[in-house]
Amino acid sequence: MVRSVRRTKKRSIRSLAATLAALGLLAAANDAAAYCRSTTCRSTKDRECPTDENGCTTDGAKLFWPTSCISYATNRLGTADLDPADTRAIIRKTFQAWSDVDCPDGTVAAMTFQEREPVSCKQSQYNKTGPNVNVVLFQDSNWRYRGIDGTLAKTSVTYNDATGEIYDADIEVNTANNEVTITDDPAKVQYDLQAILTHEVGHFIGIAHSPDPGAVMFASYSPGSTTQRELHPDDVDAVCGIYPENGGVACNTEPRNGFSGECDDPEPKGLCSVQPASGGASYGVAALVLGSGLLVARTRRRSISSTTNLRDGGRR
Ligand SMILES: [Zn+2]
Repeated sequence: MVRSVRRTKKRSIRSLAATLAALGLLAAANDAAAYCRSTTCRSTKDRECPTDENGCTTDGAKLFWPTSCISYATNRLGTADLDPADTRAIIRKTFQAWSDVDCPDGTVAAMTFQEREPVSCKQSQYNKTGPNVNVVLFQDSNWRYRGIDGTLAKTSVTYNDATGEIYDADIEVNTANNEVTITDDPAKVQYDLQAILTHEVGHFIGIAHSPDPGAVMFASYSPGSTTQRELHPDDVDAVCGIYPENGGVACNTEPRNGFSGECDDPEPKGLCSVQPASGGASYGVAALVLGSGLLVARTRRRSISSTTNLRDGGRR
């Protein structure tokens, strides 16, 4: 079963914005957009991907979903310390934040999500020859990535290395080393799951870190903060720019090669495993990480590293 995830919205506000825009009463859309897009460029030890004045990677094809709606599912186990239904409700909100976003010009971004029933798959993976699922899962005891305890979550995006077309995206939350919370009580918020995952869903749809300190996609999270639950104008510019209302992209919630809630591929071995590409296409993975090991005690501000680990024909 698939559940439609759309924002409930006030049409009157949208039409007011459209009217004001038509009358020229609203400021022009942010011409100097700060947001950055993920691309197929991958830095190596010998060559860093070039960047512009905002720190956005300028080489490579920009990543994008070739659909205006994407399905996802949560792993049915959830995380041990939180109620599974409550957790799924929070996850739903994080996708809703990026759904049907009102754009500055009065249009609505052409991106929505559909929630599938919880699945048994509990690994980030892409199956080149079989069905797939875009899964959100919690790693309660086995966080296998570098950065270990400081990494809050990781989104792995599999894409066509030539075109940037996204095939699959999976989000893992590091509950092995961090206490994530879903409370609204400011005194009890630790690492706010909704804020963390709203950021990760931005990566899920192909947005990289933004230099705008107010943005959801800013590469830093302050423990106890919930401000990144809500899109900032820079995030709105990103989703509106990548998925415009009149972009002419149809809705297709079917994962590449069909849907399966089970993981058929064996666990990838290590961080540098390479699988041969099939059908002449090459694949890469953008591994974008929210979280790092640097916790500055004075400000209680956790800086976030973004690593882009890409390799032709394989998945890291
Ligand atoms: Zn990030």
